[in-house]
Amino acid sequence: MVTENPAAESVESFRLRARAWLAENMRRPVEGESGRKTAEEEDWRRARELQRRLYEGGFAGICFPREYGGLGLSPAHQRAFTEEADGYEMPLLLNIPTFAICAATILDMGGEDQKRERIGAAIRGEEVLCQFLSEPGGGSDLAGLITRADRDGDGWVVNGAKTWSTWAYAADWALCLARTDWDAPKHRGLTMFLMPTKAPGVTMRRVRMVDGSDEFCEEFFDNVVLPASAVVGEVNGGWTVASRQLVHEKTAVGGGSPYVSGRLRHGGLRWEDLPEVARVTGRVDDPAVREEIGEWVAMSHVRDQLIERVSRSIGDGVLPPAATAFMRLFSAEASQAANDAMLRIAGPAAVVGGVDEPGLGRLVGVRQLMRQESSLGGGSTEISRNIISERVLGMPREYAADRDVPFREVRRGRGADERRA
Ligand SMILES: Cc1cc2nc3c(=O)[nH]c(=O)nc-3n(C[C@H](O)[C@H](O)[C@H](O)COP(=O)(O)OP(=O)(O)OC[C@H]3O[C@@H](n4cnc5c(N)ncnc54)[C@H](O)[C@@H]3O)c2cc1C
Repeated sequence: MVTENPAAESVESFRLRARAWLAENMRRPVEGESGRKTAEEEDWRRARELQRRLYEGGFAGICFPREYGGLGLSPAHQRAFTEEADGYEMPLLLNIPTFAICAATILDMGGEDQKRERIGAAIRGEEVLCQFLSEPGGGSDLAGLITRADRDGDGWVVNGAKTWSTWAYAADWALCLARTDWDAPKHRGLTMFLMPTKAPGVTMRRVRMVDGSDEFCEEFFDNVVLPASAVVGEVNGGWTVASRQLVHEKTAVGGGSPYVSGRLRHGGLRWEDLPEVARVTGRVDDPAVREEIGEWVAMSHVRDQLIERVSRSIGDGVLPPAATAFMRLFSAEASQAANDAMLRIAGPAAVVGGVDEPGLGRLVGVRQLMRQESSLGGGSTEISRNIISERVLGMPREYAADRDVPFREVRRGRGADERRA
């Protein structure tokens, strides 16, 4: 939760100070692309170094409390900094999931030591965080997961598998959700752990996607030993922590997180590049193309205002936190609409097969291959619609055969039972 300091520097003064500092200390224009979907050791080393520079300059963790290494300032300060930082090289790789999802969740749900150590280290550029939530059996039914953590003296032993973990290979710590009580109904037998990604017993593999990106990893846990202090929140209270995490995830993916610094590009492209695609392909005077651009401008304004209105309404208690699903849903729809418009404008220039030419048209084509990711990441579009109908509009809940049934008695596919045994 963002706590604002009433005695804080004004946004305008902060903006001017940031402008001067950025000009003095950060590179412009951006060379290379630190927000792209394929990032190697050098990109991560650079992201950590840039984060360290922001920290030393007094511009890191703008909305995180001072006691955990941040500045304790407001989302308006963060927005001003992001506007000023546009076009400068920024540690964008650290935005999601490190700051916007994991550090934000630890801030809301973690113990004092976890907050001081993990958030502080991330803000100083020393650590990267990731999420171990989804499993090979499916991500939408998160509470139905079967990775298990069994008590061993004071500590825990974890066995199971996770998948689709963004940037896990570059991370130091993961928020890992595991089942700790098989006799409780599915939501009530889960516990969230902070797991070192390089702990003995963790085997990690990278997953290469159709567009050549490899941000995802899958992990296998064989008797991973964790201390009692690894528990985030309460034992068997993991669903409360995960619910908060999913709210932060939807806010981040929806574009409304106060914890991101700098504007993210998707696959080397941003919505703002639409007019540039028209210019490069020589179609800027085509009335149909101008109409596409007009629609995109209108959609961008709606998106920005939706983010502002929903964030404010949640902050004022007018809407429940589940309303972050609005941002997530609209952002996915808008992202896909922008992708499609770019493809229509680029036309044959977007053909990707066998062409070894790194132009903007080709970027559009490659981006189109990953069009569906925005309707899956941060929970699927269908699940967002379910959340809006059930938890915001108060419509009847979807039927669930496993509600209030001890998880041990819930029928699952054969693969799941084999792993559980
Ligand atoms: C860009 C990106 C980043 C990601 N990062 C991470 C990460 O860092 N860590 C992590 O753990 N996971 C991550 N994921 C995984 C993501 O959380 C899952 O893809 C998502 O939750 C959906 O799960 P699934 O892919 O297993 O699809 P499934 O759950 O198998 O769903 C398949 C389809 O069925 C639909 N469906 C399922 N249940 C219902 C229902 N009850 N009602 C209506 N429709 C339904 C879904 O909408 C979907 O279209 C990421 C995914 C993407 C695309």
